[in-house]
Amino acid sequence: MNIFMLSENIVVHSFYTAYNFLKFEQILFMKKIQMVDLQSQYYKIKADVDNAVLNVMDSAAFINGPEVKFFQSELESYLDVKNVIPCANGTDALQIALMALGLKEGDEVITADFTFAATVEVIHLLKLKAVLVDVDYDTFTLDPVKLKAAITPATKAIIPVHLFGQCANMEEILKIAKDHHLFVVEDDAQAIGAEFTFADGSVKKSGTMGIIGTTSFFPSKNLGCYGDGGALFTNDDELAHKIRGIVNHGMYERYYHDEVGLNSRLDSIQAAVLRKKLPLLDSYSEARRKAADYYDEAFAGHPHVLTPKRAEHSTHVFHQYTLRILNGKRNELQQFLAEREIPAMIYYPVALRKQKAYYQESDPKDFVNTDRLLEQVISLPMHTELDEEQLKYISDAVLEFMNIPS
Ligand SMILES: *Cc1c(COP(=O)(O)O)cnc(C)c1O
Repeated sequence: MNIFMLSENIVVHSFYTAYNFLKFEQILFMKKIQMVDLQSQYYKIKADVDNAVLNVMDSAAFINGPEVKFFQSELESYLDVKNVIPCANGTDALQIALMALGLKEGDEVITADFTFAATVEVIHLLKLKAVLVDVDYDTFTLDPVKLKAAITPATKAIIPVHLFGQCANMEEILKIAKDHHLFVVEDDAQAIGAEFTFADGSVKKSGTMGIIGTTSFFPSKNLGCYGDGGALFTNDDELAHKIRGIVNHGMYERYYHDEVGLNSRLDSIQAAVLRKKLPLLDSYSEARRKAADYYDEAFAGHPHVLTPKRAEHSTHVFHQYTLRILNGKRNELQQFLAEREIPAMIYYPVALRKQKAYYQESDPKDFVNTDRLLEQVISLPMHTELDEEQLKYISDAVLEFMNIPS
């Protein structure tokens, strides 16, 4: 296959192989397909964002300027949470949450074996004990039954991860936590904007249901800035006060350090960018859902392609659109797509309990779902700028491969 770059974003795909000679007719003038297209998204708001960033430059209030305060209170309103505390990134946010809860060396923290490493990394950093448990096969989130079975007298906290854009089963998780007096810290790095409906009819935004919620504004996240950023959410004013100290060297009064903290800030330029993007977050989620609907329909009923299940009580903001490939040819599919200039990613290829850094002995019987998912999952391009031509090209390619008789 030859690819001619016409401009930065337009690629002509042409097929020259013998098999594909006939397809030469189908030269595609199509925007290059990316896992995440941050550039096209930026171009739509460029004037507005550029202006906001230049204003920060003019004001020279680079750290803790008014933009940070405004963003904080705008996010508090959006999430309907009493306190948002911005910080430097989503990993810091998780670490700070565990520090604020006063956990002690050796305390056990339960989280999912199938998630991004940051969640378990911070547990290790603080010399707490990470207890990894299996996830639900359909929703990729903490399995409440297995969570319950993992609780010991040393358990102090649970970190449900709202993986790929929908909430873990918070109804069950909060009940279990209450019964066992455990803290719940929600890792909301992938699901900001998702909503959970409880049995009593109340609706809450992801990240606002546990004692603390944490998120990341990494550029490719659903609410991404143009660098690093993160935040913690809590309705507990005392904890919020403590967190505001921890992010600032444990300082509650200038140059008086009451505890060991760290230096973790969201800078004003990133806050200015986020202030422009926050009002668009729901429309971004909607664009992702539309792309997901297209994929869902394209793959519906295929015997070897399982589309992501929508959880019963959570909306889905599709940080990722993750298929499960049931014929054992997931890696070959990824290769097939790559040859057609379609990126697709394996989130995640290795269980955390098997990573060198976090290795622990385990019984495979306890991780049946995680281990199946590691072999089956493949995430297709998912972002706010996918158009129908691209979606068709991607899903046609997946189906073409999956329908090759084996
Ligand atoms: C991205 C991510 C993080 C870490 O966020 P950073 O801002 O990159 O530090 C934590 N947890 C999950 C589930 C993530 O996806």
